[in-house]
Amino acid sequence: MSYITSLVADTQQTLARIALEFSPAVFASSLAAEDMVLTDLILKARLPIGIFSLETGRLHPETLAVVDQVKARYGYDIALFRPRVEAVDAYVAQNGLNAFYDSVEMRRECCRVRKVEPLGRALAGNKAWITGQRRAQSSTRAELAIEEDDPAHGMTKFNPLADWSEDDIWHYLRANDVPYNALHDQGFPSIGCAPCTRAVKPGEDVRAGRWWWENPDSKECGLHLVDGKLIRIKSVAA
Ligand code: SF4
Repeated sequence: MSYITSLVADTQQTLARIALEFSPAVFASSLAAEDMVLTDLILKARLPIGIFSLETGRLHPETLAVVDQVKARYGYDIALFRPRVEAVDAYVAQNGLNAFYDSVEMRRECCRVRKVEPLGRALAGNKAWITGQRRAQSSTRAELAIEEDDPAHGMTKFNPLADWSEDDIWHYLRANDVPYNALHDQGFPSIGCAPCTRAVKPGEDVRAGRWWWENPDSKECGLHLVDGKLIRIKSVAA
């Protein structure tokens, strides 16, 4: 069995185990390349795992187009969770539309309103949630496990692609002709909200285009809490 075949088989096994032992479980898709691998594996196997995405109100049109691509390809409607209108209005009235550029605190507050609170609603009532995070994505994800406790949400969290490399992702997507976000072909290896994501140069860290004005160790949106902290802060080199 080739390396990629065995990687895919292991991931299929993890997803099947989640569906069997952790029902109801949901997959939080950011509509990026990694998430399309999991979307393809879940929907082809017809696993009873719901797929949702956080529609923050600041996404690129190319990212939102992925929702339609998934509908056209698999006949599946990704559930979209949006921030509370009154919370967004209050943030904008008090701080301005793009206050996230002013400080890490302002940025995290915007992420809290637009992502973290809607995530809580999306996860409510489930036993487990699944993400497309990978260890190789950044220094903040260097110790990522495939399965971990998520005390903040009171459930188990799975990162079935923790072992996958960037090459593995693209090998899978091309071999299976899976639709993906058009921004990936325009220099965006990692994609978040439009004002907080830029294209990266060849050789730059894959997450260098996310919140590029901040220190690398603060670059998480608060969706991935461990022991009350935003995420593991450890350098890949260390
Ligand atoms: S990524 Fe940027 S625009 Fe999106 S929620 Fe976070 S701070 Fe706000």
